[in-house]
Amino acid sequence: MPQPPNIPILMYHKVERLSARSAVPGHYVSPTLFRKQMGILSAMGYSTVPLSHLYRQDKKLPRKPIVITFDDGYVNFLTNALPILQSYRFVSTVFLVANQLGGTNAWDYKDGGTPERLMNVDQVLQAKSAGTEFGSHTMDHVDLSAVSREEAWNQILGSKKALEATLGFEVDSFCYPYGRKDDEVRGMVARAGYRLACSTEKGLNTEETDRYALRRINIRRDTTAPVFVIKLLRGKRSAR
Ligand SMILES: [Zn+2]
Repeated sequence: MPQPPNIPILMYHKVERLSARSAVPGHYVSPTLFRKQMGILSAMGYSTVPLSHLYRQDKKLPRKPIVITFDDGYVNFLTNALPILQSYRFVSTVFLVANQLGGTNAWDYKDGGTPERLMNVDQVLQAKSAGTEFGSHTMDHVDLSAVSREEAWNQILGSKKALEATLGFEVDSFCYPYGRKDDEVRGMVARAGYRLACSTEKGLNTEETDRYALRRINIRRDTTAPVFVIKLLRGKRSAR
């Protein structure tokens, strides 16, 4: 199986102006900054590919590929990020929390913070028809290394089945909530039929990288244009 070393995978959460009471302010990349970042990718000659095209012999990758991912599936992906992506003819992969379609990011604001709405089924299908790919981010955004093995399995396999049944298309990539996993959890993700999975480990991937623990480049509220370029070129670790 050919490996895709050094294809950067960007990690975003929200494309939205920072709300006053967020528990995770770093996750808010403003639409203005996001547009600037996409412009940089375009100027540097990158072509976006859906995450699922990695590690596949039947998909020819472009000369300078990059993957853009969004965790959690916020409505602001549809309203703010997607129009900007489309203006550059870019595609991306969004990880959905299966039990929370149309709900909110309750896992974030239980510690204090402003709830953000998550896409409902219609919104997901709208983004899908605009070329967006979707993966699973479990049923309930749980720390898979902290729940029972049975619960972890339900979260991993159950979300694949639920999303595929509800949305009507195959879901073959996975993203660990909080990046939390262990060997058993990783094994379950492979056994459930996912082809690859993203972690929150920072940096670029090499030939040796486990395809069930793909590293990403974390793009944050403070990832200004020069920092963005440096992260792309070096796959640098985030400051936090
Ligand atoms: Zn998440």
